[in-house]
This record gives sequence, C-alpha cells and structure tokens, in this order.
Amino acid sequence: MAPVIALQNGLIIDGTGADPLVKSAVLVEGPNIIGVGPSDRLSIPSDARVIDVGGRTILPGLIDAHTHLGSTDLGPEVLTSQPLAVWAMKVSQVIENTLDAGFTTVRDAGGIDGGFAQAVAEGHIRGPRILPSGAMISQTGGHGDWRQRYQEHLSPTIPGLTALPAICDSPDDARKAAREQLRRGATQIKVMAAGGAMSPADELATTQLTVEEIAAAVHEARAVGKIVMAHTYSPASISNALDAGVLSIEHGNFLDEKTAAKMKTLGAFLVPTITTYELIDTFGESYGVPAFNLEKIRFAKNGCFESLRIATAAGVKIGSGSDLLGPMQPFKAMELSLKASVLGPMAAIVSATRTNAELLGLADRTGTIESGKWADIIVVEGNPLDDIDLLRNKDNVRLVMKEGAILKDALEV
Ligand code: ZN
Ligand code: ZN
Repeated sequence: MAPVIALQNGLIIDGTGADPLVKSAVLVEGPNIIGVGPSDRLSIPSDARVIDVGGRTILPGLIDAHTHLGSTDLGPEVLTSQPLAVWAMKVSQVIENTLDAGFTTVRDAGGIDGGFAQAVAEGHIRGPRILPSGAMISQTGGHGDWRQRYQEHLSPTIPGLTALPAICDSPDDARKAAREQLRRGATQIKVMAAGGAMSPADELATTQLTVEEIAAAVHEARAVGKIVMAHTYSPASISNALDAGVLSIEHGNFLDEKTAAKMKTLGAFLVPTITTYELIDTFGESYGVPAFNLEKIRFAKNGCFESLRIATAAGVKIGSGSDLLGPMQPFKAMELSLKASVLGPMAAIVSATRTNAELLGLADRTGTIESGKWADIIVVEGNPLDDIDLLRNKDNVRLVMKEGAILKDALEV
C-alpha cells in the first residue's frame, strides 16, 4: 500500500466557509483524506511521504458546474470543419488545462458524452472528474438547434464521441432523448428552456420547450436518481423549469424577486456563469462572433450581477459555472473573481467547492477538505482571500491532487 501523504505547512481554506487554518496539514491515504488540522497536533505516520507546501494555501479542488469541454473552437461547425480525431485531441487538451487550472470536478452542460469521462477515469489523459450531460435537449429553432436559418440538417452524432443536440418537439421526444443520454453515460440531463446568446435563430427573452416536455426529461432523470439542469434567462423560463421539477437553474440572468422566492421554496440552485458574458463581450468580436450574437451577449451581461444579488438576498443556494467556449476555455477560474465582487472571496470559494458538490450530488465525497472525503485538493501560491484574482492564473496552482493522486506538481518551480 502506498504511504500516507502529508501536505504540511499550509494555510487551509477547507471549503466550508470556516476561518482558514494556519500552519496546518492534510493527511491522505489512498483516495481519501484521513486527517486535517494544525501540523503540531496531527500525528503523522513515520513512514508518511511529507510534502512541505511552504506556507501556500491548500483548498478543495475547484468544481465548475457548467462547462462545454467539447467547445474547442467557437461555433457549431467545429465538428464539420476538421477531422474528428483532431477535435478529440483538442478536447483532451481542454480537459488537461482545466485540471491544471485547479478543477478536479466539472459538470459538462452538453456536447460530449460518457466517452471522455471514461478516458479520464481510466487515466488515459489527466483531467478532472467529468459529469457529462451528453446532448442538450432543445426544441426546433431553440438554443440547442445550431442550424443556421438556411440549413436543413444537423450533422449526425457519433456515439462514444460527439453529442450533438437532441431536437425534441413533444414530451415523447424529450423522454426518448433523456433516456438516450442516460444510456450513453449522462450523469444529469440538460434542457434548453430559453433562447440563448450564441444560437443563430432565437431571442433571449423567449421561453423554450413546454413544461410538459421538460417534465418528461425530469421524470426520466429522477427515475435513475439524477437531476435536470436548465438553460434559462427570463423569470418565465425559470418558472417553467421549476414547475417541471428542474433543480439546477443555469444563468438565470433576469431573475426577479418573485421567482427567486420560488427557487428558494423548491430548493433549486442558481448557477450563474458570469465569465462567459464578460469574455465574449470583450473578445467576441476579435474571435469572429457575429453582431447578432454579441448584441444578445451584452443584453445578458447586463443582468447577471443583479440576478446574483437577488438570488443571494432570497437565500437561494449559489453554485458556480463558467460556460466558456473555444479560445476562452483557459479562464474558468475567473468566475470566482467575478462572483467575489458581489459575494466576497470566501463565499465565491464556497460556491465553487462545497455548494457545487452539493448540487452535483457529491457532497459526501468532495467539495471540502474533511476526513473521509476524497482527497481532491489543490495548493495555490498566495492567499485567495487576500487576492481572489490569483486563481485566474493557472501557474499559481502549484499542486493538483484528485482522489489522492498527484496529477500536477509544480511546487518546486
Ligand atoms: Zn446556456
Ligand atoms: Zn452552457
């Protein structure tokens, strides 16, 4: 059996929101944490592998609850403009970079199926644990319908590799699509309940899918102990999703007080994704994002901080996602900086660790540094409570451990 690993001499921010522990250590045996506390009070086995982190900060591995790891380039033509082998290699680079930026778990909000999750789980590539949604469920002409107005067909999906949107126009369609995603390894179902910024043929303020269509997907997810995440913007779209039984409200940029109260009552989470609006607003034009989409991005960006304030005031649980696409993929941790501008740095960290773990149904395994949980741990240069922006730079993430395995070690650099 491999020796116990002791991460010594760190400032521990454990993800619970508790005050940091100075000069402290974490003991890891196999995949699990077996001890946490001040270095001088923790009994470290004599044969332990001791790693002195030099006073740096020890945090739970970050969780991104809304990624699109398959979005290697901007635009839906990503799958038809290059050999799929090339695309798959690019996805694996996105996955490795996400780990190097400090993320040990991600929930993918559509575009890849269980194949990439399996490749990571079997150790073929370094990466965070991936919870894939498979294909997004969208209505004809909805946010997941990537066809340009002049196009008739979407490219066919290749099971085990791609997961192109499932176009559904009835509860039966949605039921079948949900079952198909679950068959292919989805750990949750993703539905498009509103128009979206990057889609070619819809408007943000609209509702999409009927309550009955969403409810059919929710029924199938619940039947196997899983939840549904819904892309939303307007109060009407959020309300439809809630009425159908959705517990993970994505974006929600135009949330109002009344709908926030409904979310609180039903125990739904809000997953703001502020980073994607900031970055596409700033860089989208240079990346060739069409004016029609940029206009929608700017409209959505106007609402995201206010909706975060409204949700927080209503006591809604706040998860954390980045929703980044194409060349913006490396900036997932920027979401913590943006959230911190409203919530403060500690609440931003809790949202991307403990709260996200709860949202993903993994609260008993990850999200905090506590005995008995998986050793999903990162060591960062500096103290993110003093400077949350340091997480934006992946070079500040010096060590990444997932289930006790050290997958990045740059402590000596
Ligand atoms: Zn979305
Ligand atoms: Zn998304």
